[in-house]
Amino acid sequence: MSFFLEESARLKSLPPYLFLEIDRAKRRAVDKGVKVIDFGVGDPDGPTPDFVLRAMSRFMKEGKNHHYPLDRGNAPFRETIAHWFSRRFGAAVDPDQEVLPLIGSKEGIAHLPLAFINPGDTALVPDPCYPPYKSGTLFAGGKPYLLPLRESHGFLPDLEGIPREAARKAKMIFVNYPNNPTGAVASRSFYGKLVSWARRHRILIAADLAYSEVYFGKEKPLSVLQIPGAKEITIEFHSLSKTCSMTGWRVGFAVGCKEAINALLRVKSNMDSGVFTAIQLTAAEALKNSFRFSEKTNRVYRKRRDLLAAGLKELGFPAKPNPATFYLFTRLPHGQEDSALFCKDLLEKAGVVATPGVGFGASGEGYVRFALTVPEPGIREALSRMRKIR
Ligand SMILES: *Cc1c(COP(=O)(O)O)cnc(C)c1O
Repeated sequence: MSFFLEESARLKSLPPYLFLEIDRAKRRAVDKGVKVIDFGVGDPDGPTPDFVLRAMSRFMKEGKNHHYPLDRGNAPFRETIAHWFSRRFGAAVDPDQEVLPLIGSKEGIAHLPLAFINPGDTALVPDPCYPPYKSGTLFAGGKPYLLPLRESHGFLPDLEGIPREAARKAKMIFVNYPNNPTGAVASRSFYGKLVSWARRHRILIAADLAYSEVYFGKEKPLSVLQIPGAKEITIEFHSLSKTCSMTGWRVGFAVGCKEAINALLRVKSNMDSGVFTAIQLTAAEALKNSFRFSEKTNRVYRKRRDLLAAGLKELGFPAKPNPATFYLFTRLPHGQEDSALFCKDLLEKAGVVATPGVGFGASGEGYVRFALTVPEPGIREALSRMRKIR
């Protein structure tokens, strides 16, 4: 160790990166020449659609788009967002005060606690969950208070079960439906209870809707902002990453409560200078056509989901088809509990990568997550390898 600086307490406070071992094992297998089938990555396998690429090549050539973007974001993009939101959810947001473009929704999610959390404050965080809810809270000096998501409860947090003292100390609550990693969706009645509970306790709702457009049932996933009275206490995060296969472009947006939007904007103004204007204008074009595009990709994910769920069931997993997201989250076959060990074995013996549930939090133990980002032939091959090692 020649490096002389000690890492900050906040960096040291982060939980260990549990996927590191899987990443290493995957690289070892690839180096040995194993044809690894990777259900690990939550990244659409298809390219960004052509009409988006064409828009980008047009906008990037215009010199006026090459300068620092405005902090609050490009006005036509904000108007397109407001229009998209009202068309999709039937709820209104003011493009000037209640919309904020983001460099991907992860950035906004991770920065939000800096706007509201004081050292020692808590944020209510679902468990298992997408890691930035925890790390963003820890970076702000706060403490995540974990809300276990149980399958028997539809992977929804039990709001009534939150102790009064924990609710009193909490400044915000993170919710994420359609949910990563569980694939669960939230009902209108859950959102209704959430809004009245949060209003009663004066807690900001931070809702992550990255997967709002990846769904398979007739009913579209809801926005918290569809509940009367929600907007005063809710900030919602949306992303073009999964919706338009644009993960690498880094563009998303927040909508909702204007005080929260403004506070997040003030944090961001001191950290970054916004999204490349050509990308904002391109994202507006993408949003205008998002419904047609996601209809197509959802048909693809749905077929993969049905194939994988049926195959896993034959192998003894109590797998159920997920109603939304491109994740199939299932309990391990009877008698198995150690998800990290299961995934290690699966990779070493079958060359198949899946993500251990425990990597998303202790309540994910006993489960495994398969991302439906592998085409059907790869799914068939993976199932056949799994049959052989059974
Ligand atoms: C992929 C994902 C996001 C989106 O992140 P971007 O920064 O917009 O690419 C947000 N939340 C969850 C739960 C995700 O899985």
